[in-house]
Amino acid sequence: MTIWAEVPEGSDFPIENLPFGVVRPAGAPARVVVRIGDHTLDLAAAGIAPELTAQPTINALMASGRGQEIRERAGELLSGNDRSDLLHSVDDMHVVVPIAVGDYVDFYSSLHHATNLGHIMRPGAEPLLANWRHLPVGYHGRSGTVVVSGTPVARPEGLVPDPADGVPRLVPSRSLDFELEVGFVVGGSPASRIHPDDADRHVFGVVLLNDWSARDVQGYEYQPLGPNLAKSFATSISPWVVTIDALRRYLVAPPVQDPQPDPYLRATRPWAIDLNLTVELNGWPITSTGFADMYWTFAQQLAHTTVNGATTRAGDLFGSGTVSGPTPGERGSMIELTWRGAQPLTLGDGSLRSFLEDGDTVTMRGWCGGETAARPRIGFGEVTGTVLPTPKRGA
Ligand code: CA
Repeated sequence: MTIWAEVPEGSDFPIENLPFGVVRPAGAPARVVVRIGDHTLDLAAAGIAPELTAQPTINALMASGRGQEIRERAGELLSGNDRSDLLHSVDDMHVVVPIAVGDYVDFYSSLHHATNLGHIMRPGAEPLLANWRHLPVGYHGRSGTVVVSGTPVARPEGLVPDPADGVPRLVPSRSLDFELEVGFVVGGSPASRIHPDDADRHVFGVVLLNDWSARDVQGYEYQPLGPNLAKSFATSISPWVVTIDALRRYLVAPPVQDPQPDPYLRATRPWAIDLNLTVELNGWPITSTGFADMYWTFAQQLAHTTVNGATTRAGDLFGSGTVSGPTPGERGSMIELTWRGAQPLTLGDGSLRSFLEDGDTVTMRGWCGGETAARPRIGFGEVTGTVLPTPKRGA
């Protein structure tokens, strides 16, 4: 397709992508845009579904079931007469969280991550608990602290046993971590008991997600009900919601599951995503992995979440769980990369890290394809965040 809008070579955002986001122009209300190259297209100003796009979130658009139609209309506009007046440089825009997040559930669906964490947290024991291969384990997170890429994250305080006397005391976390994840955003009408083969009627799009984690706080609080304050202080997402429609050519078969799960979790359609993921710490590459071999897919996570009659809402967010591959260079968290600090990372400037330090910046990127013309690059941009010191009490 020939378009008049300029798209730089290798951009994450060619005409085949057109992800949705929300921007707040200076002195004007927030509105829904699609991204093309280094620009945003103002949909309401273009007269494209203003009842859904002159909005501060994409929730109504996701609920309407009209996402694909709106992307097609945006594509037609970009390939018709020059309407550069509708484009704005993304650098001139204040980019905000694009969704009003409903329920946020974070899963634990990478076999390699769950195995690594099992070895680290329960040395000498079987790394996977008995339920792990039978259902996608997850916990409810805190939707109110989902923040957009670029938002600084203050080091949390939490109750941690003092190594000197074993007494738990409130201290700034000494083992702040990131988790490389992929987030799935739910759209459509409220639904329950969803079959995994119907997942694309309910999951609207995909973002990158950093599940910031305080490992020392987590280690003390997590039994028996799972993580709580170790995770709830902040979860960062990338600002551009890449639609399932844009990702269809990158849907691939997931790994074969052994044992085969209960029928409600069995899909016949391929729901893994051939998606490349990287993490940089202060600009130094520390992880490069792939999303395609996650053990549990987003379709299974959705089927599981709703099997008991719980209903979806447009704006619900699922975290995939930390994405780790089989080799040490593919681990999606510091606790795995450094084996809980036993093997510190050496960054490109020679500095050592066991966990994150104040001032550190974590940047995650993701993209599909880009190798050939038949596989256009469908990128996610980045989710980045810098660690700030714990705020002073009373501040
Ligand atoms: Ca997580």
